[in-house]
Amino acid sequence: MSKDEITIRDFCRRTGQLVELDPGHFLLLPPPYDKLDIQPKFTRLSEENRKKLESDLDGVSALKFPRPQNEDEKRVLVEKFLSGLKKLFDRQENWTFMQPLFLTMEFCAKCQTCAAACPIYNESGRLDIYRPTFRSDILRRLYKKYVKTGGQFFAKLSGNDIDASWTMIARLMELSYRCTVCRRCAQSCPIGVDNGLVTRELRKIFSQEMGITVEPLHAKGSVNQLRTGSSTGMSRTPFLDNVEFLEEEVEERTGMKFKWPMDKAGADILLIHNAGEFLAWPENPEAFAIILEAAGISYTLSSDLCAYDGVNYGVWYDDVQFAKVALQHAEVARRLGVKKIVIGECGHAHKALTVIADRVFTGEHNIPRESSMTLLHEIIKSGRLKLDASRNDDMTTTLHDPCNLVRLMGVVEPQREVLRAVSNRFREMEPHGVNNYCCGGGSGFAITKDLNFPDFRNQISSRTKLRQILDVFQDIIEPEHKKYVCAPCSNCKGAMRDMFAAYGLFERCNILYGGLVELVVNAMVDIDKPFIEWEWH
Ligand code: SF4
Ligand code: SF4
Repeated sequence: MSKDEITIRDFCRRTGQLVELDPGHFLLLPPPYDKLDIQPKFTRLSEENRKKLESDLDGVSALKFPRPQNEDEKRVLVEKFLSGLKKLFDRQENWTFMQPLFLTMEFCAKCQTCAAACPIYNESGRLDIYRPTFRSDILRRLYKKYVKTGGQFFAKLSGNDIDASWTMIARLMELSYRCTVCRRCAQSCPIGVDNGLVTRELRKIFSQEMGITVEPLHAKGSVNQLRTGSSTGMSRTPFLDNVEFLEEEVEERTGMKFKWPMDKAGADILLIHNAGEFLAWPENPEAFAIILEAAGISYTLSSDLCAYDGVNYGVWYDDVQFAKVALQHAEVARRLGVKKIVIGECGHAHKALTVIADRVFTGEHNIPRESSMTLLHEIIKSGRLKLDASRNDDMTTTLHDPCNLVRLMGVVEPQREVLRAVSNRFREMEPHGVNNYCCGGGSGFAITKDLNFPDFRNQISSRTKLRQILDVFQDIIEPEHKKYVCAPCSNCKGAMRDMFAAYGLFERCNILYGGLVELVVNAMVDIDKPFIEWEWH
């Protein structure tokens, strides 16, 4: 890996691969991963893929975008990029984040406080290209030259001239997928510059104007969800079959007979899970059902298109896809006549349906939305569940704070109070709460699994979270101690599943991850058998 300083001029002009990633240069991990030989290897792209795909940033390909064949193809791509760039700063075209983006373009004190806050920059061994300001400075220069009046003239005078070449745009395209949009940098900036937003808005140019996105977010994600009902591809009938099967499973595991309330008009709450839970972690929606049933809450699930899947990947890359999915969610809630929508354990679904949907929902679609964390907190405080925290005494627990739920929305204490009520051996990671570190799977990283992108995720973007987990359990790191990372977010669990597997965390250290509601049910005195099955799956 080159440790030479990489400047924006290099980024725009140097040919070939700009940096080589080498685990030997990444930040050291705590024991037992302080030796390189037990760390996963970083896979290089095959020679064929390097020739075929744009990968001249760092030898990683998230987008699998084929290299243009000739100068004409490059010219067309550059023109489309510049057209998208102009739309980004047009009030009629960019109805979501125009103002914060505009302010971010106009101001930056270049103090680099944000760099110290960024896990990707730090864990990579401080590679310049991953500095939070690097992509923002490029966008800022492009904005000043190609969007502002007289920009071409002033760019030359200022010495910050930048040419919109395909070499630069191809690298910027991949660079927009080397940031998890955790917005730790934005929180640390003394003047409110939002470098995370820059990532998201760059992705928007590539998606909305150029049709370039990562497949799991778009074709397999939003498009699939709008066509079948879920980004998992699970349409209504398989969803209902799945639910029926899980009802039987709950009865087997707990002796509790129940039917999931489905499409129940007039219920107080429409509960929307991330549909991935029903397939990958069914114990999570099962645990929700057990708790809500025991607490006597009036709620329903929906089997309508999109409403059984809280996923909304548009929140990470595309306003149009975002709005289409969000409106489906609101329309189903309106038709059912529920009093509010409650969002299950899924961080980005929280961001999509609350903070961002506020820019879309009006009139009868503007139905109140609430986090499941506050609902659970209310249930626990009301005393409606009979709990015995000592039932979780065989494991030490810690809590991961999903960025969207905690830093963005400020939901910090409810889930902690719930956890304290069901776990006597809870300890905090440092830092935590709004200063948390991302799981490394934010902004679509958790579902981007092609080529060597998972190596980037497991070894760089998830590395600080791995470090925090090892640190918090360091005194009991040996496998004879059971340890549980409570991660109330489907996306974070997806990133943890891959990271745990890559490092062998369960086998080597006996650490499991899972949701919050599973711990609650594990502590319910009315359930005979332990609800959490201590095994890797
Ligand atoms: S974005 Fe904010 S924290 Fe980062 S260099 Fe600029 S002013 Fe400093
Ligand atoms: S949003 Fe997070 S990953 Fe992206 S630059 Fe900022 S701190 Fe780094």
